[in-house]
Amino acid sequence: MNPTVELVSTGAELLSGRTVNTHAQLLAQHLALLGLSLARDTTIPDERAVLSAAVTEALTRASIVVVSGGLGATSDDITRDAVADAIGAELVIHEDTRAGIRQRYARTNRMWSEAVSRNALILSGAEVLSNRVGLAPGEMIAWRDKLIFLLPGPPREFEAVLVDHIVPRLRALVEEQPLQQVFEMVGIGESDVVRLLPEDNFPGTGVSVAYCARPASVELRLSALPGASAEHACAVAIVRERLGEWIYAESQIELELVLVDLLRRMGATVATAESCTGGLVGHRLTNVPGSSEIFLGGVIAYANASKVRDLGVPAELIERVGAVSAEVALAMAGGVRERFGADFGLGITGIAGPGGGTELKPVGLVYIACASANGDVAREFHFTGPRETIKERSSQMALDLLRRQAGVRALT
Ligand code: ATP
Ligand code: MG
Repeated sequence: MNPTVELVSTGAELLSGRTVNTHAQLLAQHLALLGLSLARDTTIPDERAVLSAAVTEALTRASIVVVSGGLGATSDDITRDAVADAIGAELVIHEDTRAGIRQRYARTNRMWSEAVSRNALILSGAEVLSNRVGLAPGEMIAWRDKLIFLLPGPPREFEAVLVDHIVPRLRALVEEQPLQQVFEMVGIGESDVVRLLPEDNFPGTGVSVAYCARPASVELRLSALPGASAEHACAVAIVRERLGEWIYAESQIELELVLVDLLRRMGATVATAESCTGGLVGHRLTNVPGSSEIFLGGVIAYANASKVRDLGVPAELIERVGAVSAEVALAMAGGVRERFGADFGLGITGIAGPGGGTELKPVGLVYIACASANGDVAREFHFTGPRETIKERSSQMALDLLRRQAGVRALT
């Protein structure tokens, strides 16, 4: 039988609305890849007796209990003590960990105090799970026929220990690992994806389909047990054939990463002229390491005067067709391309709302243009949602237009 997994998340901040519990999401995503699901997530304040009781209870149901947070050295970090209470274990100092932390303190000229040693306390008999991004390691302890994992709270540290230690151990415990295929799509809605796939997805084939929709993108995942590998391969081929135009990646990866990689391989550059997105496209591109090779810069041309002065959009054109128009988007794209000497210029102009809309030009109307040696194109979009969502969707479709224009053929 596959293991059952529960998470016990600790931290008053998770219950006060100050912090979103991202550990539950991350753990569940990694479990899904192994064909497992998170059976329950219990969120507990930093109270030793309450946490201890929650761990005891989880151990009555699950074969694997993951406890997150509260492994630091401050007085509210009581996870070790609470788990020790639950299983009747002692706490001991792990000398190697303590020495490692002391060395780090010495290297970074930080004042050492014995209180810091708490980071090196572990349950007696536990295996230390190294933490490559923080001080306190995770730990794993076997109790009866169960496994308990203790993981640090900071999200980067939780993820590092999860990926480095828990996932490989779980993989070894899972009987039949499912076949998985992910498709990341842009510019198509969930309902259109459903419409283009066979009715009721792939009934009777043993292939299951999962969707996850985000602003202007959809993730599709096809899973099957190894016994249905031929059916799985067939379903993958159908998706590629029917949805290929919208698929930008076959792994879980952001659109901006794909674009930076594509432009780097082409040896091409891009510059942006953004109005309603306020620099979001530039922000997303510059989030990607190595984007300096392809992103030359951009202009946030919010006011009409800026569109004229900084991008060379004719004032007369704005007067005649309005700032939110295909013509102005094209002039912005062409203007920024020329001024920055880029292979591709992107222009985005629209009405993000909630005010400023008219009957002819409603909130959510956005024009996106791309200028390059492959030709100049502009697209019209009607987005819905609040201001931030419209900005997000606009940036997504601008990157998609760039992807399509860059993918057409090599620049001449
Ligand atoms: P530290 O040594 O940094 O204190 P810790 O293991 O004691 O680490 P906590 O004190 O519980 O961890 O949390 C550290 C940080 O991580 C806090 O900012 C907290 O909000 C965040 N955090 C803890 N648990 C979660 C969670 N489930 N989801 C998102 N963030 C979390
Ligand atoms: Mg803490």
